[in-house]
Amino acid sequence: MTPTISVNSLSHSFEVNGKTLPVLSNISLEIQQGSFISVIGPSGCGKTTLLKLIGGLLDAESGSVTIEGAPPQEAQRRKAIGFVFQDSSLLPWRTVAENISLPLELNSSESRQGHDEVDRLLDVMGLAEFGAYHPHELSGGMRQRVALARALATDPDVLLMDEPLGALDEMTREAMRYEILSVWERNRRKTVVFVTHSIAEAVALSHRVIVMSLRPGHILDEIDIDLPHPRDETIEKSQTFLDYTYKVRDTLSKGVVRATAHRG
Ligand code: ADP
Ligand code: MG
Repeated sequence: MTPTISVNSLSHSFEVNGKTLPVLSNISLEIQQGSFISVIGPSGCGKTTLLKLIGGLLDAESGSVTIEGAPPQEAQRRKAIGFVFQDSSLLPWRTVAENISLPLELNSSESRQGHDEVDRLLDVMGLAEFGAYHPHELSGGMRQRVALARALATDPDVLLMDEPLGALDEMTREAMRYEILSVWERNRRKTVVFVTHSIAEAVALSHRVIVMSLRPGHILDEIDIDLPHPRDETIEKSQTFLDYTYKVRDTLSKGVVRATAHRG
């Protein structure tokens, strides 16, 4: 099967105060259509930068990214990429329904169809009663559900999520994990790249966990998570789940030890 997303020898650095800051080093990835991939790594290792490069929000310094064989900007033009960021970035003056319909309004004039789609998404996200609310009247978890609904509005093939649960309290965060999974199951399994620094989250959600090193981020290991779908919270009690979390933790900490030794 050909991959939907192909990342080829991607490296990137930023110029800060006249100095070069290497951020990503030689990243290669093949992401199959319909798979759920998590990227985990220490803070500052370049996860957000990698996601921006995959989504075409940044141009790669060297190497390349293709989505369906074309540059990501092409997929963006087709509205084939949905983004969800840590901070929901909703428009405060728009209602929940109006925030979700925004990408549809920008997209086309099929307003009736758009209206039905907004209702469907409100329903899917358990927000049916909150369409007329404004963002400040919602909890953090609800705002993230609105952000996810908005990202799904154009029915994108690829969903890029950057620590979407990072700002939530632990209980809400755990519940939202499985909401994201069930939305993914019900929406003809989009290709998802999910950035997180939670090991349990990465293992619970993914087909594969990409473990990154300290900056400049490179891939330490790709760990296939061979747990059945659909998944729910009971999975976290299984020994297999725990074994995977140990494996991810081990790989992460080996990366840190190696970097420290290297610095001498
Ligand atoms: P992560 O998401 O893994 O925490 P980021 O990709 O946000 O890491 O950032 C990686 C490194 O690149 C950090 O050191 C950060 O300060 C730097 N960085 C990110 N974006 C920019 C930018 N636009 N200009 C300069 N430096 C940046
Ligand atoms: Mg980040």
